[in-house]
Amino acid sequence: MSSCIIIGAGLAGLTAACELTRHQWQVTLLDKGRGVGGRMATRRIHNTRADHGAQYFSARTPEFQAQVQAMQEAGVVKEWYLPGIDHHPRYVGSSGMSAVPKYMAQELDIRTGEKVVHVAGDTTGCTVRTEAGTIYSAEKLIITIPAPQVKVLLADSSIQLLAPDQLALDSIAYQPCLAVIAELNQPSRIPAPGGIRYEEGPISWIADNQQKGIINDSTTVTIHASPQYSREHLEGDLNKVGEKLIAELHEWIPAEAVESFQVHRWRYSLCDQRHPEPYLRCDTPFSMLLGGDGFGMGNVEGAYQSGLQMARYLVGEGKRKKLSME
Ligand SMILES: Cc1cc2nc3c(=O)[nH]c(=O)nc-3n(C[C@H](O)[C@H](O)[C@H](O)COP(=O)(O)OP(=O)(O)OC[C@H]3O[C@@H](n4cnc5c(N)ncnc54)[C@H](O)[C@@H]3O)c2cc1C
Repeated sequence: MSSCIIIGAGLAGLTAACELTRHQWQVTLLDKGRGVGGRMATRRIHNTRADHGAQYFSARTPEFQAQVQAMQEAGVVKEWYLPGIDHHPRYVGSSGMSAVPKYMAQELDIRTGEKVVHVAGDTTGCTVRTEAGTIYSAEKLIITIPAPQVKVLLADSSIQLLAPDQLALDSIAYQPCLAVIAELNQPSRIPAPGGIRYEEGPISWIADNQQKGIINDSTTVTIHASPQYSREHLEGDLNKVGEKLIAELHEWIPAEAVESFQVHRWRYSLCDQRHPEPYLRCDTPFSMLLGGDGFGMGNVEGAYQSGLQMARYLVGEGKRKKLSME
């Protein structure tokens, strides 16, 4: 049985794992987080929940459309019509965006709380070591963590990429995002359907999670600071950031309505400079593929496509090898 270790159980890693498992591969997914999903994240506050990472996604490619349709039929996702962006339908998780990765993770061997700190290998396979000291081995390795974190992992592992691979990795860049989740003691004044995108100013997006359809005991509002504001205040006082951004939105969120708020610092949110191909096959002694939303289309759908294409490549490679030996 062919085997693969996947670092990162966000949408790219989960998709690759599902596809390889479907082809009878033995797959181990490792993620440093407490749960799966990475940036498709829903946070619980008291008895309420809020999406604080990805807010909605599109499905333009046939493979992802089929996946979304299956999840729609299973009640995991639903359409969310947002006027004024374009004519493509947008989707959200029925109980928050984390419903999507949780659904995909059901049948997989996933080890959470496992931060990979070292990778090594030779022509027979790869070995990875986690912060807790656990060692995992497999024939193939897929890495789906954001490119800046890949660079740190490879440097700590003394793995030097060939110049073109290194250039490709260096070309990938992400926007930071400061995300505020405010819990309200009354409905927000955000008009239906509950999401507003801003082109200027310190805020890029607000959403009323209840209007998005997340059943909550009280209203929660998600606020995303603009890339510029986030960059300027990334290392600043998060409490002040939260107060400032909430005050900017007094039209939709009266000050007296705010019960509490939290601020999350996303160092890597949307990938705005991507490698054009859906993955990078590294010229290393062991088989190592790099993927995720930094490769190909970007966003949630791009992460799905990247994971799918990496798995298809490995399955195809296995078949080609078998044929050449016959
Ligand atoms: C604030 C915000 C808003 C967004 N809005 C949208 C949107 O509206 N629509 C949209 O389509 N996309 C949006 N995105 C982008 C979208 O969330 C991502 O493109 C997509 O989820 C990326 O999936 P991925 O699997 O490539 O990476 P990730 O989801 O980042 O998964 C990588 C995983 O690797 C893990 N990891 C990292 N380092 C290690 C390590 N050393 N060892 C083990 N595990 C590790 C992480 O814990 C994580 O779970 C948004 C993102 C953010 C943060």
